[in-house]
Amino acid sequence: MKITMVKKELADGQPCDKCKQAEDLLKQRGLWERIDEVVWAVEGKPESPGFVLAQEYNIKIAPFFLVEDDEGKMSVYRSTLQFIKKTFSDEPKRFKVESTSETPNWEALEEEFRGRSPQDVIQWALTRFGEDCAIAFSGAEDVVLIDMAAQTGLPFSVFCLDTGRLHPETYEYLEKVRNRYKIKLQIMTPNSEALQTFVQEKGLFSFFEDGHKECCGVRKVEPLRRALSGYRAWISGQRKDQSPTRSELLVIHKDEAFEGVDASPLTKMNPLTDWSSSQVWEYILKNHVPYNPLHQKGFRSIGCEPCTRPTLPGEHERAGRWWWEDATKRECGLHIASDE
Ligand code: SF4
Repeated sequence: MKITMVKKELADGQPCDKCKQAEDLLKQRGLWERIDEVVWAVEGKPESPGFVLAQEYNIKIAPFFLVEDDEGKMSVYRSTLQFIKKTFSDEPKRFKVESTSETPNWEALEEEFRGRSPQDVIQWALTRFGEDCAIAFSGAEDVVLIDMAAQTGLPFSVFCLDTGRLHPETYEYLEKVRNRYKIKLQIMTPNSEALQTFVQEKGLFSFFEDGHKECCGVRKVEPLRRALSGYRAWISGQRKDQSPTRSELLVIHKDEAFEGVDASPLTKMNPLTDWSSSQVWEYILKNHVPYNPLHQKGFRSIGCEPCTRPTLPGEHERAGRWWWEDATKRECGLHIASDE
């Protein structure tokens, strides 16, 4: 079988919105790599190969799909959903979750996956844990992970921590990602009693006086602990070069800070350990992955509104987080037990 997708390229060089949406849908279903060839109909160029095909099959919309079976019979689809339904409905799922309750051998896994691509790590994680594995979503790296996970066609979970102090842009961004990937986003909020007591005693900006640890403890660490207690594994977007505290970051390890479902050991994965910020952004731009609009305003690492500021050229990407504190203390407790 040979599958051709005809897409329309607009005068500004970008694909048309419908073509982008169709590509997203195929990625979400893990079918993007089944497209053998993409042919472009370039706006204003009737001689471009996509327009020639459109004329040949008398089609006036983009995208459309041509499927040639092994006997040479051609089927034409104007609707992406019809194309998916008719072409792939009889196929068994390419990947299956092979859920097992056996405790993983983290050292052997680290050895096996060190240096492998993030996609390989995610594929393994979702094959092994399925929906029992959650991606922790807040920043640019995390959406790269969601995009990669969506392409496997395997089930997975996503949660985020709503501290109550995020930028309005971040809340809009969370919704955008939820809609784009059609994910059930588990939004974790702080324990209301603990938060009320804390705010009543310390006010709304105590972190500028005595450090971020206590506020992050109430608004982030406790909700994270609660979220993780429902899973057996989680995936974070941490990278080694983000901070001096992350220089020893492993790809796969036992989470020493938190426990999983029924207090079982939790497997933590950091598939982007060895990626640089440029690699993350290259992926985002190439794959049209949504990103927080604050990045266009000079914010590089984005957390809560009062504790994040834009960075200057030449500054480290996390210099805008808790900038009034020592660089070695700029973790919020999400990734190190000793800082809770
Ligand atoms: S980042 Fe700032 S506002 Fe957000 S939880 Fe931590 S200390 Fe509180």
